[in-house]
Formats: sequence, structure tokens, C-alpha cells
Amino acid sequence: MSAGLEFPLKENPAAKDMSRLFAQGRRYPPTLLIEGAEGSGKSELARYLGAALLCRGEENRPCGQCSACRKLQKNIHPDFQVFESEKKAARSFHVGLVRALRASAYIRPNESRVAVFLLEDCETMTDEAQNALLKILEEPPGAAVFLLTCKNRSMLLETVRSRVASLSLEIPGAAACLEVLRERFPEAEPEKLKEAAQCSGGSIGAAVRILDGREKGGEGIRAAAAGLLVKIAEADDYGALLLMRPWEKDRQGLAALLEQLYSLVCGFSLEGGYSGGGAGLSRRRLFRLAAIIEDARDALAFNAGGLILTAGLCARCIEAVESA
Ligand SMILES: [Zn+2]
Repeated sequence: MSAGLEFPLKENPAAKDMSRLFAQGRRYPPTLLIEGAEGSGKSELARYLGAALLCRGEENRPCGQCSACRKLQKNIHPDFQVFESEKKAARSFHVGLVRALRASAYIRPNESRVAVFLLEDCETMTDEAQNALLKILEEPPGAAVFLLTCKNRSMLLETVRSRVASLSLEIPGAAACLEVLRERFPEAEPEKLKEAAQCSGGSIGAAVRILDGREKGGEGIRAAAAGLLVKIAEADDYGALLLMRPWEKDRQGLAALLEQLYSLVCGFSLEGGYSGGGAGLSRRRLFRLAAIIEDARDALAFNAGGLILTAGLCARCIEAVESA
């Protein structure tokens, strides 16, 4: 797969316009914040914009052929640097990382006219880190471009928000996601692509992880989550419990299963409803289920026992489905 060199968001006119500016290398914002939920394609878009800027081709940038594009594909371009916290947890993006960024940003680019710095998941930045970033943005190094990704811009300090141009992305939905997958994985079986688009709830990032086989637990967990949603929609608590049994004692597996179920439920709620499992589920019910699954995830993180957790989860989900 050619990382970052294919435009990921065909249906988003704002993203399209922005990529045109980057490809022309003119009038693009020196600092761009891309906000969007998990799976909306913000990281993919940031990588694409960086590639459009660094490509040495004459037209159709990024061309995918030139030396810069080839280095970007291999993640070895010296003028494209990524900064992110390893843990992805709240307040895990520390000021030390911004200091490292600062040290690189004021050095002249190695091979290109500009150097691109991608700061991922900026909502995880501490206030101290954001204030340090602000100082860089106030006196921007001439040859640096900063691309920031963030779940929601309201999670950043107002002072930072006022310094950046921003672009919002929506989760593309299963149909648009499938289209992207078809282009990226032309050799893959159509059924596999369809399953990945549905299991990921339309999130491109999650679907790609599924297809790349990087998703925790793999096939079994995805199938179980899909089956579980059917049982919940049918209000079959015994069936749901049976499906969860293999994971009662496997905390990591259970966490992955809840994650998968959550992303399914969110995906269908964005699409307006779920039609599987008898009468299906309305959007309102899906929202309730998402909240219940979120609680279960938190409980699991705080060491709740597997059996009590799964039984409680099933009971609450089915109550939500049966209530008026
Ligand atoms: Zn190129």
C-alpha cells in the first residue's frame, strides 16, 4: 500500500480544496489543524498533504514516482517528521516532545524547500506542551509547515486554536469507506472489503487495520462483535452471554471485543440505524448502547471481573433495546 500518496477523502470538498493548495505549493496555511473523530481519515489526509507539498513531480502531486514520494512511501523522508505520544492517553503528549519538535523545526530542511511536521492526536497534549507549541507558532520557522490532528478542536487551548487554520472531517460511512478500500486493496476479495467496511463502522483507519491484519484478535473478535449485535437486537440475552463466554477470562480479548462492538454500534448510529437482528435498532437505541458499552469499557479498565461485566453488559443492553 502506498502510504499517504492516495487522496483519502473523495467526497470532502474542503479537503479537496486544501489538497489543491498544498499540491500547488502556494497559499496553503503554514499551520493546519485537521479535526475529526477516530477513523475520519485525518491522519491519512495529513500524510497526503505533506506528500503533495514535498513531491518533486511537475504535476499530479504527489506523483508517487519521484525520489521524495518514494521516500515518503517508505517513511524515510527526512523532511517529514511525525510527533506523537506513544500512549495516546490524555495528557500523554508532554512538553519534552514539543522541545524536540522545536529543535528540528528551526533547522533548515534537508532536501526540500520546506519541512513538514505532523503532530498527531493533539488533544493528548498537556497545557504546558500546548503553550510551548504556541511559542513556535507565534514565531514560525520560515521553512516549516505544521499539520496537527485532533479529535475535536475544542479540546485545545483557545490560544492555540486562534493560531491555526482548521479543517473538519466526518466519518465517511460504510459506503464511502468501501469505495476507498476498493481502490487501496484492488486485489482483495470483495466480501472481505465489505466486511471490513461494515465492521469498522465506516472508519477508514479501522478498516485498513482490519485488512492489514493488525486488529487485535482478528477474525474471531470481529465475527463475535457482529454476532453479539444481532443477539442484542433480538433481545436474546442468553445467546449474547454465550457469545461472550470465550472472553470472560481474557481481559485483553474482552477489551478488543468491546472496542469492536462499540465501533460497530457507533458506525450504525452514524448511518441512521441498524437493520440486522429482527426489528433492527433505531439510532436512539444505538446511542444508548454506545453509552452502555463505554461504561463497560471503563469498568474493565478499572479491573471489573469478566463474568460480572459481561452479564451486566448484556442485561443493560437488552434493557435498552426493550425499553420504549
Ligand atoms: Zn512525487
